[in-house]
Amino acid sequence: MSVRVRYAPSPTGSPHVGNIRDALFKYLFAKHHNGVNIVRIEDTDRTRYVPGSEQDIFNSLRWLGIEWQEGMEVGGPFGPYRQSERKELGIYDKWVQVLLDSGHAYWAFDTPEELTEMREYQQVNKQPIGYFGGVWREASGESVQKARDAGVPGVIRLKIPKNKEIVIEDVIRGRITWDSNHVDDPVLIKADGMPTYHFASMVDDHLMEISHIIRGEEWISSAPKHACLFDAFGWERPIFVHCPIIKGKDGSKLSKRHGDTKCLDFRSAGFLPEAMVNFISLIGWAPGGDRELMSMDELIEAFDLDGLQPSPGVFDMEKLTWMNGHYIRQKSISNLMHDIKEFIFLKDTIEYWDRQDNGDVKVNELKMLENSIESQSEYMEKAVELEQERVQTLADFGNACEFFMVEKPNMDEKAVSKWLSKEHVPNLLNALLDYLQEKETISQEECENWIRTYAKDNNLEKLGPVVHPIRITMTGKTAGPGLFELMSVLGPVRMIERIRTVLKNHVVVTH
Ligand code: GLU
Repeated sequence: MSVRVRYAPSPTGSPHVGNIRDALFKYLFAKHHNGVNIVRIEDTDRTRYVPGSEQDIFNSLRWLGIEWQEGMEVGGPFGPYRQSERKELGIYDKWVQVLLDSGHAYWAFDTPEELTEMREYQQVNKQPIGYFGGVWREASGESVQKARDAGVPGVIRLKIPKNKEIVIEDVIRGRITWDSNHVDDPVLIKADGMPTYHFASMVDDHLMEISHIIRGEEWISSAPKHACLFDAFGWERPIFVHCPIIKGKDGSKLSKRHGDTKCLDFRSAGFLPEAMVNFISLIGWAPGGDRELMSMDELIEAFDLDGLQPSPGVFDMEKLTWMNGHYIRQKSISNLMHDIKEFIFLKDTIEYWDRQDNGDVKVNELKMLENSIESQSEYMEKAVELEQERVQTLADFGNACEFFMVEKPNMDEKAVSKWLSKEHVPNLLNALLDYLQEKETISQEECENWIRTYAKDNNLEKLGPVVHPIRITMTGKTAGPGLFELMSVLGPVRMIERIRTVLKNHVVVTH
């Protein structure tokens, strides 16, 4: 069988990671089997339509490198791929007529009040909730015609067969069965003539020759209706694959409470697509063995449905952050510079940080980084290369590189009072000043030699009393990249200025 899968989002907002994880699984599965991945837009519920979400859907997929061979924006033999356009072409009207003619579907003219009353009755009497036929399922042709002629608003429903066991064989969960008497008759066409999700989605899955319906677990309860629809048409059912839901580390369903859940927010927060793809692929799927760090190509090679788990996957932010750091360190410096520039340039990034608590600090750091890269690209490349070893996200570079960019670094007061008040510090800094004044550039080795020699000449047993005051003078902080490396990057001119500032503002000369 040739593999044809579809990602069929409804444009109801920017897609969440769970939804995109399912889209990734479909892509990996299609690629693994040389199949076709299709993107279809299910926009028949106009009340839930959110402008801009289609673009967010495509941007999310493209950001992660999830490709599709057929569908929206690329076309294909089964187009159009937007359901509202398919509706205009009369595709759903035609197929619902087939079901009406064969007696598998029926018109129902219940008023909203009648439906509410029915539901309340079912609740009070502890009956299964839903529409199980009412007065219309078996109504005569004449009464239906009369209602239609009178212009009474009506819907078309599917006749779920009575007294049957509905069975689907889910690839992940195995056999699932339902008592058909507890499955209500779903609406296929609404009173305004629009098809419902159930109907449009299944008709399209058939017409587009979908082999596997891969989707989230939340759709399992719809599966018996979908199976019955296929059966009513006499069509061969696709294979059902319901992927596990994603939970937060606390065990509850992933939601806003756990932080970002929209796929594109992770881009704005500074995550790399490589890390994101690798990380989400392992939520609910395992490649076997203890493999963890995998590229898209490796995932395609390894992916198959038998690695999918029925139990919920866990979204572990710490793991994503760790993976992102790993992928940042893997990058060549030119690729990394390119990614950082793109990242800051994206208007989503700044908007995202503006929305965060204290986000203005981050916005300022990032803008400063952008300007510095623009005005002194070689210098900033060296600074970024040093911080590449230490940061976890692209957004961290602003803060990490700050001391390279400012004239006077922000001084950590505790560090200043602990180290710069020591008696030997004025001597140390003046000696370094004298040494630097002779130089235009300075290598790491020269910095290291000078520090070691100074410590020896002044009978200091350890390097700490030399290293710490110099680091604080140059960076304002006690932690950061290797001192000799950062000194070499800063270079004599900047270091001289910093030493002068510290001698003037922070060092109390006692003699
Ligand atoms: N349009 C549905 C959604 O928004 C698709 C569900 C399915 O894959 O069947 O997720």
